Amino acid sequence: SFSPSNDPHGLLARVFGFSQFRPGQEAIVSAVLAGRDVLAIMPTGAGKSLCYQLPALMRPGVTLVVSPLIALMRDQVAQLQALGLNAGTLNSATPVAEARRLIAALEEDAPLLLYIAPERLARSDTLGLLERARVVALVIDEAHCVSQWGHDFRPEYLVLGEVRHALGGVQTLAFTATADAATRADIQARLFPETPEIFIGGFDRPNLHLAMTPKGNTRKRILEFIRGHQGENGILYCATRAATETWAEILTDAGHRALPYHAGLEPAVRAANQDAFVAEDGLVMAATVAFGMGIDKPDVRFVCHADLPRSIEAYYQEIGRAGRDGLPADTLTFYGLDDILLHRRRIEESQASDDQKRVETQRLNALLALCEAPRCRRQSLLAYFGEEAAPCGNCDLCRDGVETRDGTIEAQKLMSA
Ligand code: ADP
Ligand code: MG
Ligand code: ZN
Repeated sequence: SFSPSNDPHGLLARVFGFSQFRPGQEAIVSAVLAGRDVLAIMPTGAGKSLCYQLPALMRPGVTLVVSPLIALMRDQVAQLQALGLNAGTLNSATPVAEARRLIAALEEDAPLLLYIAPERLARSDTLGLLERARVVALVIDEAHCVSQWGHDFRPEYLVLGEVRHALGGVQTLAFTATADAATRADIQARLFPETPEIFIGGFDRPNLHLAMTPKGNTRKRILEFIRGHQGENGILYCATRAATETWAEILTDAGHRALPYHAGLEPAVRAANQDAFVAEDGLVMAATVAFGMGIDKPDVRFVCHADLPRSIEAYYQEIGRAGRDGLPADTLTFYGLDDILLHRRRIEESQASDDQKRVETQRLNALLALCEAPRCRRQSLLAYFGEEAAPCGNCDLCRDGVETRDGTIEAQKLMSA
């Protein structure tokens, strides 16, 4: 029968092949092993899966993992099986024989990682099976899907509070990369009857130089910035499709290799431009927010925002595409009154409920506050995510101070309007 290991470090090396924990992982693993409920907020790529997979191996019984997409579940299960672990997935696409194997495995004491779609988990036959099994923990991955404030809201996630109850209040672990206050409060309220242990970490990207500046003479200054990165891979984010095409031309005329990217391009052109960015060196992509998802190019050396993004989350995602290799990378964000008016109009004209509009407005205002931060920009950015940090010495405010900002926009006035 199963004899549990009590050595997380040993398992980390032996099973996963990693020599050390990433920041935050060890503390979460300890809390999980101590039986506590956990809400962990860490950025994409930080290594959240390990925080529940490793403890699952140390405890006999089944760890249930709820995840929003069948493809994600399949990937994870394939990886775990490749490591020689006992894992499987139950969803609408699971073959009968595989479902039978998993149901039989539920009766055994060995550790099992069972990935399951929320609607399948909530079914009474599934809950009946689980009643007879030893359920160690309920893991909710991509937990922001439970919140209607997110863009990934999934009504199926709403049953998870009841599922937890039906499973006798089993230990619950929720993981997400989304950190804004409204979403976090929602996750807590819907999944945890009592306050869980909350972990926030890993948001800092010390190799990114952060800088934000009011618009004015913008075209010239963007050209200067990009000239300073001649021959490097970079992204220039623009607010509109038309602007991406204009900028691709301006940059090409200025002797750079540049292409546009937006959702309105012919699919073939769009794919070709994206492939070029991935394959080539020294290409600047002038793009809307449609660009970047799922692109994993480690040596992007700069990200410039010609216009202000809509929220700190969006800003963070977009600058986060630079410097994945850990080497220094440069970011520069321009902001102006026109951005504020554009975003406000988009919020006003959207089909969202009044509550949602309020939350979107708060998100925009938080980004404006970051533009006008009185001290270290990284500190202010991390504070938004709930993480504490010392002044970084590697942002515009640390380097140049805040005194030369008399040209700033009337953001304060607008925010209080
Ligand atoms: P997240 O869910 O937070 O986005 P993942 O759990 O998918 O991130 O992990 C991202 C990558 O990091 C994976 O390739 C994973 O194998 C790797 N990883 C996780 N923990 C470690 C570690 N301690 N050392 C090295 N690599 C790790
Ligand atoms: Mg993940
Ligand atoms: Zn700083």
